[in-house]
Amino acid sequence: MIQPTPPIELAGTADHLVGDIAVLDDAFIESLGAVCPIDVSVAVTADVSRDWWPMSMHWALAGEVPRRAGAVARPTTTAQVSDVARLCNLAKVPLTVAGGRSGVCGASVPVFGGVVLDITAMQGIVSVDEVSGIVEVLPGTFGPDMEDELRSAHGLTVGHFPQSFDIATVGGWVACRGAGQYSTRYGKIEDMVVGLEVVLADGSVISTGGSPAAAMGPDLNQLFLGSEGTLGIITRVWLRAHPVPAEGRRTAYAFDSFEHGLEACRRIIRRGATPAVLRLYDAAESARGQGGDGRQNMLLVLDEGDPVVIDAVMAIVDDVAVSLGAENLGSALVDAWMHHRNDTSALQALTRKGFVVDTLEIAAPWSALGNIFAAVRTEMLAVPHARAATCHLSHSYLDGACLYFTFAATPPPDAVEATYVALWDAGQRAVLAHGGNLSHHHGVGLNRSRFMIEALGPAHGILVAMKHALDPNGILNPGKMALPSPFGHVAWP
Ligand SMILES: Cc1cc2nc3c(=O)[nH]c(=O)nc-3n(C[C@H](O)[C@H](O)[C@H](O)COP(=O)(O)OP(=O)(O)OC[C@H]3O[C@@H](n4cnc5c(N)ncnc54)[C@H](O)[C@@H]3O)c2cc1C
Repeated sequence: MIQPTPPIELAGTADHLVGDIAVLDDAFIESLGAVCPIDVSVAVTADVSRDWWPMSMHWALAGEVPRRAGAVARPTTTAQVSDVARLCNLAKVPLTVAGGRSGVCGASVPVFGGVVLDITAMQGIVSVDEVSGIVEVLPGTFGPDMEDELRSAHGLTVGHFPQSFDIATVGGWVACRGAGQYSTRYGKIEDMVVGLEVVLADGSVISTGGSPAAAMGPDLNQLFLGSEGTLGIITRVWLRAHPVPAEGRRTAYAFDSFEHGLEACRRIIRRGATPAVLRLYDAAESARGQGGDGRQNMLLVLDEGDPVVIDAVMAIVDDVAVSLGAENLGSALVDAWMHHRNDTSALQALTRKGFVVDTLEIAAPWSALGNIFAAVRTEMLAVPHARAATCHLSHSYLDGACLYFTFAATPPPDAVEATYVALWDAGQRAVLAHGGNLSHHHGVGLNRSRFMIEALGPAHGILVAMKHALDPNGILNPGKMALPSPFGHVAWP
């Protein structure tokens, strides 16, 4: 069974965040241990209290976790999850679910301490309906384990391949509304979920969804998709699966400007072609990793499935690209990307050198993308110590796309945190000001909580009302999504 991958070495176990914290008393810990395997050792609770949030990787090197939980619970069944939730709810103890802990926004960080519920002891495929193409899977299952078994034993694939495929869980994909690199063919995770089993804050167990479509009121699957552990604990997931593709085809194109490449993606999608991978890199990113000469903007295209469909899709892609003056470069660049696409080592290496590095991914209508592309880079590069702000388009839709910015800065050691915050403020506010949203697939977590109310406006009140209705004691992942917390206040940023 795969286990979570630590983001970087941890040089100590002190708390970085300052503010209120819930202390667990002995009687509570004893009752928790009576219903579920637990661990209260400092080393273990420190490790489960952090994720791949780039800011906290700097803290880890300085010997700090964001906030250390008092205990970690490791349930193996839904009944144990229910018992843990019930106990925490009665005792009014914060309860934060952690999956692969690959989140990049501090979403699984236990801001007020309390209990971390490590869901990764609940792993594996439970059943497969091969006729309908539906897989029932436990939430702590990591991507490779699910896909390997689905492909080899059932000839099926879910088609969800995030860059963090090896280090993230099915429950984490659902809780964060994740997106895989093949999303233009297979959709985001919210398109793949048939149904969910969820444990609510009081320990009750409910099921949502279950059919290919419904008209029975609002879609309750979608209530928990993206809820980041604040509304319920996902204990079982039913996902749609496709036949393993018979064939695949790859081609790359070079455009003379990012804007021409954007227009190509828009026309391809609006003509009805949905190649599994459609990724457009700006000139800087093309030169850095996609074979560009510093002026070229590379478009990588990959499709797979039925050969009849692929032929049609690739014909539309070629027609559009050539009509916009792009050069067809063949498949070699896509082959190279396939080899390095899930390499996550650069982040650790740059963090150890003192660089501030992170990514900001957003979605916006096609008509807004050009302005967002320009504004985010301008605003970020104006921040003191900023070194780079680059961009690629990673996921396309009928009405718009996801732009994914990567930024870096080299501040002096005492300005790392301030520079990080300033870069996020500059980039995220430029996105919101030009018609983009808060996040396409990384989610909100702790880092983006401060933008939630300006991003959602008065609709944030609906989220608050749902939180009160489902979790009246506010125990589930408190301190996130700008939801009110009964546990007090913790300062970030
Ligand atoms: C190098 C790198 C590349 C990445 N690339 C991608 C990418 O291509 N696409 C993408 O979408 N994301 C990507 N991510 C982000 C991250 O992998 C995703 O957000 C992922 O879905 C998180 O899953 P996890 O199991 O690690 O969840 P965690 O990080 O453990 O948790 C994330 C949030 O989900 C909640 N949660 C987890 N499990 C459950 C559950 N069972 N029930 C309720 N709530 C739960 C947690 O409380 C937390 O709020 C990347 C991350 C890294 C480090």
